[in-house]
This record gives sequence, structure tokens and C-alpha cells, in this order.
Amino acid sequence: MRKGFGRVIPYRNPARKVFCPVEIPPVQSFAPGQPLSVLTTQPLDRLLDYRAPESGAQTGDFVEVPLGPRKVLGCVWGAATGELPVARLRPVERVLDVPPMRDELRAFLARAADYTLTPLSLMLFLATRAPGLIGGQATVRVYRLGEAPPARMTDARRSVLDTFDAYGGAALTVGEITRAAGVSGSVVHTMAAQGALIEGEAPKDQPYPRLDPARMGKALSDDQAAAVQALHTGAGAFGVTLLKGVTGSGKTEVYLEAVADCLRQGRQALVLLPEIGLTEGFLERVEARFGHRPGEWHSGVTMTERRRLWRMAAQGGVGLVVGARSALFLPYRDLGLIVVDEEHDSSYKQEDGVLYNARDMAVLRASLCDAQVVLASATPSLETWVNAETGKYRRLDLHARFGVAELPEMRAIDLRSDKAPSGRWVSEGLQAAVTARLQAGEQSLLFLNRRGYAPVTTCRACGFQVQCEQCDARMVEHRFLNRLMCHQCGATAPIPTACPQCKTEGSMHPIGPGVERLEEETRALWPEARVAVLSSDLFGSARALKEQIAAIARGAADIVIGTQLVAKGHNFPLLTLVGVVDADLGLHGSDLRAAERTFQLIRQVAGRAGRADKPGLALLQTHQPDHPVIQAILNGDDEGFWRAEAAERQMLGMPPYGRLAGIIVTSTSLEQAFEAGNALAAHPDPMLRIGAQVFGPAPAPIARVRGRHRVRLLVKAAKGAPLQAAIRAWVHPLKLPGDTRLAVDIDPQSFW
Ligand code: ADP
Ligand code: ZN
Ligand code: ZN
Repeated sequence: MRKGFGRVIPYRNPARKVFCPVEIPPVQSFAPGQPLSVLTTQPLDRLLDYRAPESGAQTGDFVEVPLGPRKVLGCVWGAATGELPVARLRPVERVLDVPPMRDELRAFLARAADYTLTPLSLMLFLATRAPGLIGGQATVRVYRLGEAPPARMTDARRSVLDTFDAYGGAALTVGEITRAAGVSGSVVHTMAAQGALIEGEAPKDQPYPRLDPARMGKALSDDQAAAVQALHTGAGAFGVTLLKGVTGSGKTEVYLEAVADCLRQGRQALVLLPEIGLTEGFLERVEARFGHRPGEWHSGVTMTERRRLWRMAAQGGVGLVVGARSALFLPYRDLGLIVVDEEHDSSYKQEDGVLYNARDMAVLRASLCDAQVVLASATPSLETWVNAETGKYRRLDLHARFGVAELPEMRAIDLRSDKAPSGRWVSEGLQAAVTARLQAGEQSLLFLNRRGYAPVTTCRACGFQVQCEQCDARMVEHRFLNRLMCHQCGATAPIPTACPQCKTEGSMHPIGPGVERLEEETRALWPEARVAVLSSDLFGSARALKEQIAAIARGAADIVIGTQLVAKGHNFPLLTLVGVVDADLGLHGSDLRAAERTFQLIRQVAGRAGRADKPGLALLQTHQPDHPVIQAILNGDDEGFWRAEAAERQMLGMPPYGRLAGIIVTSTSLEQAFEAGNALAAHPDPMLRIGAQVFGPAPAPIARVRGRHRVRLLVKAAKGAPLQAAIRAWVHPLKLPGDTRLAVDIDPQSFW
């Protein structure tokens, strides 16, 4: 489930090194030569002093400054700290050709750093992840219409002139002209030589086409219209709204109208999506509603586009940005709305590098720029549900599915009586249901949240299991890749033909199901069916995944086999059956959120069935049909589930009724990791003073990753306790030996 351990924080101890000037200095102008302080993106625990350049400078200016032999990116933060005598200060190299950082963003970075115990410089790094900023504004060669008509009119030349007409006489690049006019580049060059076109330079980063909120949206249902009206009343001021409604109830349609409202006021909007595979469908809906595509920000976007979007966010040259959580750190000129779609999704919690929850940070940022937040979900996180319950957030419900589509009927298949044959995972009941769908020409989805062929590969002769050499994890067989793979670190190894321990030939043998094994069974059960597998590791690129999803939506498969990837908001109109192969997966976790996650996931995936005009059926294979979570899902009693879960958490003083923080110590030496953990546990005074409890140190559930041992402590505090300040005081005196590192995870979502 976890991906990307790629980025490691360069900080040895973020909690200790973080300096937290939560109060940002007021805007100030600096005359040439005047000392000032600069926040850089370098892993330093302080501001650096420089002298203002010839051009002068002001607070918020993005600058290039010398640091040792290098030139680095920074932001003018305020008056000089005075650490060095003015005479020794080097001058700022230059002020970059981008709008200065606004107070709102400076305050956001400072508050977010303070909350997550992250060094402010690392926050600036997040906010400037657009390559080429330092390189200055690049220009491209463009053409405009000249005075002289072409010497001789040809079809090709006529077509070029028509293209300029169509674009209202705008300056165009050769590429744009040749593509739109269907002519070769030499036509353009000849016309330029003759004076029919005039060559010039234009900034490379062009504004995005203006989205037109005046275009007609869909006619809204009463529920939808009421929600849109309620959001309209809140516009222009900070406020958070939970928009709750089952999948297909028309939430997207509602928040698109909130976007329209925001654009009409001349402000910018941001829509966060949890999954890059979802963006394509959403971009199309934006285009249908507003006439153009929005700006896009996620890992699949080219470097050039990133830089363009960063600049345009700052200049107001983009109205709507759609993106992943890091789009929250763009330098918007005037952000008026943030939508967090599928707000409960665990991918909003960044678990690598800076440990932040994009949903919570969205609320923080909005509070600093008078923006609205819309949290959309069919199955909100318990935190959000409670905030709505207590009136901190407004709650808007969409009650029915849009149009005729009904929620699927849900039934349990009791695996204690309806057992699948040994080595198979599809029960008779589920099998019959799929066969019926095949005969009716409808789609089925078999959901199993486990990648690969089998979770365990063991030796029949001696019981040996292949472990990852770097991690505390079993290697998972992936037949598609013909390798064993570690799901923690991604390491792969060949599948052994003989047992590595007892050397018995052909004794290695898979236990339990993964999606690949389920596919094998499916093909054997229904040889005539078209089967598609959706699992994140089976797609080389986001594009390939998008195409596969689109093809399935059009009906290119009869049976879809999928991991949690399919649970996320895709539209499969022909799908009428969802079989949850192992509904118990996730119920057993020691994780605080096991019940909540299982509930959300199963509800969500069941919501894939019967979206169009055909009723759907969801079958849950389970050994515990009486488990309260399974019962709540079957009865469709969402509120009942949340009430029970909230009561349980309240009794235990667990979030959202109490606060947690994880302390994770890692080291190549297990001894040193424990030493640091023990040192913390031995001096808990700062924590005790705020009434917090300290648990651990203990080996983390995943005790070793990439050769580094992992030791955890858990802090539990009352809701109002000043947790961050206490943790800072607690870890401050700690000496970290060798290559030991410490990270603090405020409001942890997972406990690996
Ligand atoms: P959700 O975001 O809650 O899953 P969507 O907004 O995607 O729901 O709506 C589900 C489907 O119903 C979509 O295909 C959408 O285009 C359609 N739909 C929603 N509201 C309307 C409406 N007012 N008029 C026409 N179609 C609508
Ligand atoms: Zn063996
Ligand atoms: Zn590993």
C-alpha cells in the first residue's frame, strides 16, 4: 500500500531543528545595500542575512542568493537577524521576475511548519517545486499578422491567415500555427520573410484560457440547487462545508457550480483529487462546463507545465487548478475556494518527507485567505463527520442518487457455509451472480485489495518464506512481472525454482490470493469472458491506466478485477455487480482506523455498481457476517456506524476526541535507534506537564525498511493540549548518534 520512500528529509531531527517564527514579519522595503533576512530552501535551521541588491527588495520577494559556492533560491523574510556584522554580508544576487510571496502564503507556510513540526525551509521547498524559477522568464519566438498580404495567395497561406483570425489576431508559435492550419513550418517562415507575418518574442509561460462560468451548467435537482445556494451564501468568507452524498449523487456537479461562483467573483479555485487516474475524467467535465481545461498539477505533469502553472497561479493567469495535495502550496494570487474531493482518502496524508494532511492544511490555508472549503465524500472521515456534528463545519447532504440510479442492494456471503474450494477464492454464490451478469451482458467487479499473485510464498518441504533483505516484510510473488517484490521498498528478486533454505526443487508454493491469482481463477471459471485487471503495479504510466479505465467504462471488459484503485470515484456505467472477495481484510488490523477504513472502502467500491439505469448488487464474502462494521454496511446505516465509532473513540480519548503524535526513530543500528527512543522515554517531563501519556519505544510494525531499523513512540494527549510545543521541548535536548534520524508525525493516520 505504501509507495515511494524516495525522498528522505535531509534534516536529522526536524522537531529540534525547526525554528518557528509563527508570527510573520510585516512587509518592509529594503533600500540597496540594506541588510535583510532570507529564507532559503536549504536544510538549515535559520534565516540567512544578506544585503539588498541594486534594485532594492521587499519582504516576500523571491530571490537568488549566494550560499557558499552555490546560488540558491530563497524568499526575503524580514529584517536582518543581525547574526553577522553588516560588513560581512554578501548581496542578494537578484530578485526573480515573479510576483513576491503574498502575506497569506507566508503565514500559511509558517503555521503549517509550526503545526507539523517541519522546518520552515522545507515548507518553502514545497512551495517552490517548479523547476526553472531561478532561470528567469524564458521567451519563445512568436508570429503576428503583418501589414503586407502574402505575395501570392495559396491554400496553405490562406489557412494560416484564417488561423490568426480564429485566434483573434493573437501571437502564435510556429507549432501552434502549423497544428491549427495544417501547414508545414516552411510556409510560416516564407510568409515571415515576405512580411506577411512579423516575428517577435513572447514570454514562454502563457496564461491559461479563461474558463467561462456563464456557460450553461446542468439543470440541478432540488437537493443540488439547495446545496449550491448554501455554498453561494458562504462565498467570500472562510467556512468549511461537508458535502455528503453517496457516489453518483451529484456532488461533483454541485462543487463545479461553487467553482463557477468563485470564478465569477474573479477569484481562483483549487480542486484536490486523491488519485491521478481520476483527473482525466474530471478535466473533461470541467471542459464541458467551462469551455476549457483547467491548470493541472501532479506528478504526471511536465516540468514546463509546472513552471507555467506556478507562475500563472501567482499572476492570476489561471482560474482553476486541479491537482494532487501539493497544489495546496502554489502561490495563488487570490484563492477563494478549495474543494477536497473524497476527503476521507488516505492519500491526502503525506507519509514521506513532510508529514502533513492535505485536508487539514486546506482548511488552514483557506482560513488565512478568506476562502471556502468544500469537503466532498460519500463516507467522510470520522474527524470531519464529528466536526459537522458539532457544528464546526456546515453539512450539506445530497440524499438520492442523481436520476434513476439506485444504491446497490447489499448482501453478505457467509464463507463459513458457502466455502470456495481449496486454493480458490470465489464462492458458489458469487460465481452464480457473475455468470448471471455475463449472460445479461453486464459488467462485474471483483474487488480484492491485494496486489500481486499471492501474499506469501512458502516452501512446502521446510516452511521457509522469502523475506525482503532490506525490510521486515515478506516478498510478494508477482507473476505478471515474473518477480518477487517487496511492497515496502519495491525491491525485486527472481522467483526461486528451488527453496533457498532446504534446496528442494519446485517446493516454493503460493498461499492466499492476490489480484493476479484471482485473475487466474476468473479466467478458468469464465474462459469466454473478457477480463481486465486494475492494479497500480500493472501500469507503466498514468496514461496507460487512464486509457484502461476509459476502455472499461465503454464496456471493453466483462469482468474487472481490481485493488483499491477502483474504489476511487471512477464511473463504470455498465457495472451492476460488485463482489468483495475478502470483506474481512482490514477488520483485523490493530490500526485505530481499521473499522473506518474498511467501512469506507467497501461502501465506496459497492457504490461502483448500478450507476446508470440498472440496479446494482454488492456481495460481501465474509467469515464474520455479524461484525458491526459489516452489519452497518449491509444495512446502509452510515450514521449508525459513525455514531458507534465516535462513541468508541470518545470513550478511549482517541482522535478526534484526543490527540496523537507518532515519534519515529530510524537508524542502520537497531541499538542506536532504541537508545534514542529510550532516552526520550526516560525524560518524559515536558509531555507529562501537558498531561500526555508516552508509550514505547517499541519496534515499529514494519521494523526495518531499506536497511534502516524503525522504532516508534506514541504520544497521547487531551484535545486542547499544546502538543507541538511540548514535543519540541521534549526532543530538543536529544542527541542523535550516528546516522539516527527522528521524525514526528502529528495526527498520524497510520502506524507502520
Ligand atoms: P458524485 O460526484 O456524487 O459521484 P456526480 O456529480 O459525478 O456525482 O454525478 C453522477 C452522474 O450524474 C454524473 O454522470 C453526472 O454527470 C450526472 N449528474 C449529476 N447531476 C446532474 C444534473 N443536475 N443533471 C444531469 N446530470 C447530472
Ligand atoms: Zn524449503
Ligand atoms: Zn523491502
